[in-house]
Amino acid sequence: MKSVTLRGSGEPILVQKIICLGQNYAEHAKEMKLDVPASPVFFLKPPSAIIHQGEQIVLPSISANVQHEVEMTVLIGEGGKNIHLYSALNHVAGYGVGLDMTLRDIQLEAKNKGLPWSLAKGFDTAAPLSEFIPTALVGDPRALNIQLHVNGKIRQSSSTNKLIFSIDKIIAYISQFITLERGDVIYTGTPEGVSRVDHGDTLEAVLQHVDGHVLTSLSVSVQ
Ligand code: MG
Repeated sequence: MKSVTLRGSGEPILVQKIICLGQNYAEHAKEMKLDVPASPVFFLKPPSAIIHQGEQIVLPSISANVQHEVEMTVLIGEGGKNIHLYSALNHVAGYGVGLDMTLRDIQLEAKNKGLPWSLAKGFDTAAPLSEFIPTALVGDPRALNIQLHVNGKIRQSSSTNKLIFSIDKIIAYISQFITLERGDVIYTGTPEGVSRVDHGDTLEAVLQHVDGHVLTSLSVSVQ
């Protein structure tokens, strides 16, 4: 079983499931030529896809177009079902930054055929995750920046205030249908600027306050 770390907490936390939002930034929906959804769209990644700081993304030979998607990530601390909107953020243990690595060609082929995305989104090393920062140290999760540099050049940069569905709404919505458990991780969706990665690339993602103070970061390379 794969685990993640919450800064200041002694033991690693086992990840039960990974839930990923799709089309949660208007500009990214536009670049993918998709409509903004009326309710949250989500899919699952298996926890076996997790890698951590300093580890390597392995490009599956089945794909010729593996892309990065930088996203704010949410670690569930206290599980629940039918969680109310007003108390939803109380279920969050911490926030981090992650990469939703995507086999874009395989995903588009699956979309066109009406088939699942499991291979495109769930392959080994498809879920690089940073250390999580406790909520008390983060402040307002709607006032954070996420950024991704590839080989030192900025590729994606946005603010969490542009999320179409905010974190409390995501938690309230999903928990109507899928029980959330301690150790679940939510990827909140990517902003515009997704692009292909290649062998030898270095990817550096950060979650920071709007004043530039870095809360947590993640550096991984492509094998
Ligand atoms: Mg994504």
